[in-house]
Amino acid sequence: MSISMNASLVMSPLMTINGQSVGSPSTLDVIDPALNACFAKVPDCTRAQLDDAIAAAQKAFTSWSATPLQERRSMVNAYIERVLADADTLAPLITSEQGKPLAKARSEINSAAFFGRGYTAVDLQPEVLQDTPEKYVAVHRQPLGVVGAITAWNYPVLLAMWKIVPAVLTGNTIVLKPSPNTPVATLRLGTLASEIFPPGVVNVVSGGNALGAWMTEHSGIRKIAFTGSGPTGKRIMASAAGNLKRLTLELGGNDAGIVLADANPAKIAADLFWGKFSNCGQVCAALKRLYVHRSIYPAVCDELVKFAQTVKIGPGTQGGVDIGPIQNQMQFELIQQAVQEALSQGAKLLYQSPAIPGPGLFLPITLLTDVTHSMRVVKDEMFGPVLGIMPFDDEEEALRLANDSEYGLGGSVWGTDVEHAAQVAARLESGGAWVNQHPAMGPSIPFGGVKGSGIGVELGQEGLHEYTSVQVRNIKRTG
Ligand code: NAD
Repeated sequence: MSISMNASLVMSPLMTINGQSVGSPSTLDVIDPALNACFAKVPDCTRAQLDDAIAAAQKAFTSWSATPLQERRSMVNAYIERVLADADTLAPLITSEQGKPLAKARSEINSAAFFGRGYTAVDLQPEVLQDTPEKYVAVHRQPLGVVGAITAWNYPVLLAMWKIVPAVLTGNTIVLKPSPNTPVATLRLGTLASEIFPPGVVNVVSGGNALGAWMTEHSGIRKIAFTGSGPTGKRIMASAAGNLKRLTLELGGNDAGIVLADANPAKIAADLFWGKFSNCGQVCAALKRLYVHRSIYPAVCDELVKFAQTVKIGPGTQGGVDIGPIQNQMQFELIQQAVQEALSQGAKLLYQSPAIPGPGLFLPITLLTDVTHSMRVVKDEMFGPVLGIMPFDDEEEALRLANDSEYGLGGSVWGTDVEHAAQVAARLESGGAWVNQHPAMGPSIPFGGVKGSGIGVELGQEGLHEYTSVQVRNIKRTG
């Protein structure tokens, strides 16, 4: 597929380094997936510019980390309000670069504010372990220094705010690099940050994968907060060893959903559907494999098909659209190939929505039956609109299949006997074990994976603590 370009419409956002808007000698094209055309050119940050950004963040750290928490908190709250007030500008940028419908882009910005406020509500007081006439012992949370944040392309604003807010709230400074596929709205977040924070506290740079690698090996960065794929996460872990950087790795998932025999197919169909197909299936903690008790398997399949037929796919700028295009050409081809491969290996097409002609990267909603764990559509993380549905005969079999994955981000169990469903969910090998919902997140609820889905958590007090180190203050009260 060829990429077209209308030079007069192409925008050129800038990076934010030390509070200044900065371009660079060369640029990267950003593609609008609904048009498969370049709509923006962003700076390709040089190594020297990255050094500048890290030096600015190091310099700013001295005074920012010493700024009282209350002051930092009020600046972070002001920033969240500034981002919300910018929704009319930010939302179309998200839709252009990511593909999601405009209404969903607005929801993403609202969610970013909602989760951001959750972080600012967390109490960061020291934990006093002993306070006697003889001794005072307390655990204090200290900022780490410069945080390097690297994000993926599925929720550009949400993922960026999930890193900026906890990093600077706890007294760190940050250098943030969005995905080269979706850098535009994040660069705008950098510009907005320069209106609120002192220079150097929030720096946003754009570039390709090499820029991410330079960050992870840079001795001026004390922590990498990463959201992206498993293979990149492993490379980052190796590269970050040089100066023992702290890491949070929010990686991929291949979440299972288990529908028990007592579930009500008509009642749960919409939630099952959106558990998988929200954001065109490009959600780390989406329901990516579905196991249904054989007694209700036909009914669940029927209800999913009925629901899928009501969903509209199209350009995110068009009213009434539920699902936009897939974000990039690589995923577009990967999903198509995995579906074709599964069909050639014996999978059956339960439902496929009508094709939408190009040039946009539109993929149909695809429901498959007769799939097995040897097929890529089940074994690999399908970051796109395809779902394999498998029957099971007993719960032990369902749990064995659900846990047969290198990943462990989330998992769900669906049934009317909630106590029983919760007991089954507790046996899932995943960071999130959900009942009658998928996924389930909240600002005060830690979110993260086990096994190949990552290290550490985001959100809630535990998520905030990931941006700090422990200092134990132990005072003997007799001199
Ligand atoms: P990716 O790993 O290809 O890229 C993510 C980021 O890493 C990009 O900014 C990229 O430029 C950068 N990068 C690439 N190579 C690098 C290297 N060697 N060193 C440092 N940085 C490097 O992932 P993606 O395709 O952008 O995102 C999709 C993946 O992200 C999926 O697996 C999805 O499940 C996962 N994801 C996880 C979560 C979560 O919270 N667990 C959330 C969203 C997405």
